[in-house]
Amino acid sequence: MEGDARTKRMDRELASRCLAELGARGWKVRCAPAGRIGDLESEIRSLRDTGKMSEAHYALCLDCWDFSAARAFPGPASILVAASPSRTRRLDFHAGARRVEAVLPPIFAERFSFKASVIECLSSILGPAGRHASPARLPEKLLAARTGLARIGRNRLAYVDGMGSYCRLGAFLVDLPFPDDGWEEALRPSACADCGACERACPSGALKQGGERFDHDRCLCYLNEETAEPFPAWAEGAWHHAFMGCMRCQEACPLDAAYRGLVEEGPSFDPGETEAILSMGPEAAEGDLPPSLREKIAECGLSKLLFLLPRNLKALTDKA
Ligand code: SF4
Ligand code: SF4
Repeated sequence: MEGDARTKRMDRELASRCLAELGARGWKVRCAPAGRIGDLESEIRSLRDTGKMSEAHYALCLDCWDFSAARAFPGPASILVAASPSRTRRLDFHAGARRVEAVLPPIFAERFSFKASVIECLSSILGPAGRHASPARLPEKLLAARTGLARIGRNRLAYVDGMGSYCRLGAFLVDLPFPDDGWEEALRPSACADCGACERACPSGALKQGGERFDHDRCLCYLNEETAEPFPAWAEGAWHHAFMGCMRCQEACPLDAAYRGLVEEGPSFDPGETEAILSMGPEAAEGDLPPSLREKIAECGLSKLLFLLPRNLKALTDKA
């Protein structure tokens, strides 16, 4: 009994040190018992079953998420969802003599290094106590909304206090009980009630009926991030403005007024690098790229998406 009490006290101290250290780095965190992973899975399945998510979108999601992750951790475990501020990047390319500017949405920059930094931080505290943390492939926006970390706007973006939608989310599994932050209804920001600016700004009509419906297959984020197919004829050339994804509904949102101007510059791709991207084949591999181009693409968080880059860049250079 005494040993149990001591273990619980040590667990509480470890969890509290982890949360304090994550907070000291400017990251916001919410926690839930790992058993909530089953609730996330049921909720996503119910979106599919009620027609709010298409079969194709559901299949794509299942490729990205792993709802069985907690089984790797016997005993009590927690899920943590963390948010860090993130900025838009302004990239420029040089197609011959022309300079072509494109944005990279905040979700891409540092998307791998943020998770690695959180794991490094957690492991430095948990490792010496024989505990572990690992990244979890879970629906991060839904998890953030359910734990009260974020609200989900009509544009389907996650809004975190003090960061707006200019944030990056990461989910993590830890073999330690953390304080339970509760499991609330996924709420909209109250500002959405009388707004609709995102729906008006969306060029493709993906947002519909006051944000009640989202046509995933019409969203540019799907077209340029999630499929390697040529862009459909109905996707007008003028809509393309981002190297990856789309920011029209984010740029229009009044909740982001304080954050959208905080843009990071670069990298800049010289004419040779621009041409090298445009001429990449579908089998292009990181190792085939000149080191400087490889580094710039890695800096953008796009190393694993090389096969999409020539098509996306061509849409931008054709438009310019
Ligand atoms: S643009 Fe308006 S409706 Fe859309 S997410 Fe922002 S506040 Fe909500
Ligand atoms: S990301 Fe672009 S295409 Fe998708 S809903 Fe927003 S504005 Fe529309």
